[in-house]
Amino acid sequence: MTNCIFCKIINGNIPSYKVYEDEQVLAFLDISQTTKGHTLVIPKSHAKNFAECDDNDLNKVMSVAKKIANSLLKTGAKGVNILSNINEVAGQSVFHFHVHVIPRYNENDTIKISFVNNNEKYKDEMQNIATLIKNNL
Ligand code: 5GP
Ligand code: ZN
Repeated sequence: MTNCIFCKIINGNIPSYKVYEDEQVLAFLDISQTTKGHTLVIPKSHAKNFAECDDNDLNKVMSVAKKIANSLLKTGAKGVNILSNINEVAGQSVFHFHVHVIPRYNENDTIKISFVNNNEKYKDEMQNIATLIKNNL
């Protein structure tokens, strides 16, 4: 895709620090380095996001993300977050599918992911929520 910055990275028109490459997938350091070693894994074939990527590319991207997570764990990370944002409301800013591999070193890491517990609010709707998702798979 001509106007896509990650397609430009794949083509070599924008430089990047590559950590893995094959015919289907590229992994390179995220420019923001949220934590040291923060890496992006992308399919070479343009897809807008996780939800739109074909399963074969998606499987390969996840398999490479696993390799990179293991490399980070071998070289000092104590944990890793695997994250992919779908659409702007979820924080997606580059619309070429990518998986963030974010190594975690300690509780002072410059990333905060927290889950609010809304079980009280939704406890009477749990079956309806599950049924709605199940019926639209
Ligand atoms: P998103 O917000 O879409 O989940 O993540 C996009 C990521 O792409 C951001 O973490 C941002 O730092 C990274 N990014 C944006 N432009 C570039 C670039 O030109 N080079 C690299 N290496 N990363 C980029
Ligand atoms: Zn692209």
